[in-house]
Amino acid sequence: MTTIKLHNTKTRKKEVFAPIDPDNVRMYVCGPTVYDRAHLGNARPVLVFDVLFRLLRHVYGTDRVTYVRNFTDVDDKINDTARKRKEVGAKGTLEELIAERTEETISWYHADMDALGALRPTQEPRATDWIGAMIAMIEDLIAKGHAYAAEGHVLFAVDSYANYGALSGRSVDDMIAGARVEVAPYKRNPMDFVLWKPSDAETPGWDSPWGRGRPGWHIECSAMSFELLGASFDIHGGGNDLQFPHHENEIAQSKCAHPEGDFANVWMHNEMLQVEGKKMSKSLGNFFTVRDLLDQGVPGEVIRFVMLGTHYRKPMDWTEKKRDEAERTLRLWRNLANTAQPGGRVSPEVLAALAEDLNTSGAISVLHKLAKGINSRQRHDVDQAELDDFAASAGLLGLLEDSYSMGSWVFGKEIGTVLSDMNLSRMAGMMTEVRARAMQTKDFSEVDRLKTALLDAGVEVRMSKEGVELVPGPGFDPAKLEGLL
Ligand code: AMP
Ligand code: ZN
Repeated sequence: MTTIKLHNTKTRKKEVFAPIDPDNVRMYVCGPTVYDRAHLGNARPVLVFDVLFRLLRHVYGTDRVTYVRNFTDVDDKINDTARKRKEVGAKGTLEELIAERTEETISWYHADMDALGALRPTQEPRATDWIGAMIAMIEDLIAKGHAYAAEGHVLFAVDSYANYGALSGRSVDDMIAGARVEVAPYKRNPMDFVLWKPSDAETPGWDSPWGRGRPGWHIECSAMSFELLGASFDIHGGGNDLQFPHHENEIAQSKCAHPEGDFANVWMHNEMLQVEGKKMSKSLGNFFTVRDLLDQGVPGEVIRFVMLGTHYRKPMDWTEKKRDEAERTLRLWRNLANTAQPGGRVSPEVLAALAEDLNTSGAISVLHKLAKGINSRQRHDVDQAELDDFAASAGLLGLLEDSYSMGSWVFGKEIGTVLSDMNLSRMAGMMTEVRARAMQTKDFSEVDRLKTALLDAGVEVRMSKEGVELVPGPGFDPAKLEGLL
């Protein structure tokens, strides 16, 4: 069996991954708070952990991996968004507006992440479906002396857990100095964090032993991961902005409520995404959502390719240049693999790269090498299995899959353009074959004939060692391709 190595934030080392139960490998990733469209940064953990999910399924078996990613559908940011909508005249109670917003955001999230080729996790629990489990966990923490009720709130007492701060390597004093902690008269220690807080009549709330209220953010993940994955599971992931305080607090809650368990054995954190070298932010005007890019006609597969081009533990920079290069590479690879059949074998080199702490950029380099190798030979010297294996290897990264070809590659385009895209792809395949034959016979007349016809149809023909690329120009007339195919 392939040995997978993963960098564990907890030990700050790359370790051999040994699942608790190889028949059920369990992973939890913190999901989105559903109040708005996912921005491009939010897509990074989705794609990183999607590749890990694919790798684990490949190594341990498709049905032997449980991947849980939650939806935080109770949160002050959601309440604020609904309140603002009400202020500008939206109809309905605040509760109805909140429900409408969370439903809508979850369906957007699904559509956008599907377009990036991300597999749906095994389970996607919504926090509001697990309030009972959260209340039970909070009661247990109070009974064990790790939490206390005060003025309708319940707080976790950080002094009751000696290892608090171990994940991020901070002492409680450092945390107080560095964090914007909410000072409140009912807190015993300023770092104590909220497990439960009171709701007013308008705000969503549930009956509890401490009055009508709602859970804090951190307890959601501790309760849902326990219910769905148990007191000890294999991998916990998220962006590195969640390390402190969110993950530190999850650990404190889960280890104190279930001291018999280890909570998560491996902690994985992706670095942040930037845009053209700068932090993505609304004030810099470089903030955009996944949907913005899809609507501009950027295929979801291109977004995925760019993201996976940088190792997940390095900051990743989204640039127009990378986007163009990704589009070009994928066009070439799609032309190359358009006759591939399902059932190919994943290249051991691609697998080895991914097994080495998810070296996605290394895996992409191997794919480039394989593509060049296939292209450098005469078409009839390339056997079907080689093409099938190439496609299967790209598939482990979620690339060149069928789901894109009619979906995200053509998103937002007219159906006429969709058909001409398919024809262009077939044309490029044909051109590659004709060129390979010509190199052997030294008779280039057929290549020249096709090239002239393509130019006449408004298509630029680029030929290189890597293959044939057909780029439609502004005057592209798809009808002129019909007679050639
Ligand atoms: P949120 O909805 O803000 O809790 O974020 C959902 C996920 O997106 C979390 O795992 C965050 O760590 C991650 N995330 C947020 N911003 C970025 C960014 N700029 N780059 C990478 N990941 C991010
Ligand atoms: Zn979480």
